[in-house]
Amino acid sequence: MLLNEIMSNNKKFVDEFEVEKLSHLPQKKLVIVTCMDTRLVGFLEPALGIGRGDAKIIKNAGNNVICSDVIRSVAAAIFALGAEEVMLVGHTDCGMANSDSEKLKNSMIDRGIKEKDINEVNLKEWIGAIEDEESNVLKGVEKIKNHPLIPNDLPVHGLIINPNDGSLKILVKGY
Ligand SMILES: [Zn+2]
Repeated sequence: MLLNEIMSNNKKFVDEFEVEKLSHLPQKKLVIVTCMDTRLVGFLEPALGIGRGDAKIIKNAGNNVICSDVIRSVAAAIFALGAEEVMLVGHTDCGMANSDSEKLKNSMIDRGIKEKDINEVNLKEWIGAIEDEESNVLKGVEKIKNHPLIPNDLPVHGLIINPNDGSLKILVKGY
């Protein structure tokens, strides 16, 4: 079972790890909003030169800013934790681009979700499906910048990373 495997990995890790106490404040004064894509795990950070303790990282499906929790976490990073810049980092080949809501609906029904509950939401919107990765980043940057609880002078950058080779492209320079 996966949980057992994880627990045994953890025991080995803790036994070998030399305790280091880092500050909970982001040393690069940076907050990153990015996608939960599996290929970015352990990859986004080295590709950006970000180490442990350097940045706050907020992840969700499709690095989507539709959800108010992203703004809440960005605000916490800025006002409570000393972050001074935001980087919204999308990626090419995102699973949330052109996602098929009919297929999604069917797999929800297969798992016992009631059709009437699904029909209560606009599924495409609710799941955060995106048209294309670059325009999703541009929209997200605008949403963060224009939010009334986010300061006007906060640099919000928009970038896109290739999850295969790690190359990063700037879409919006926030300075
Ligand atoms: Zn993605």
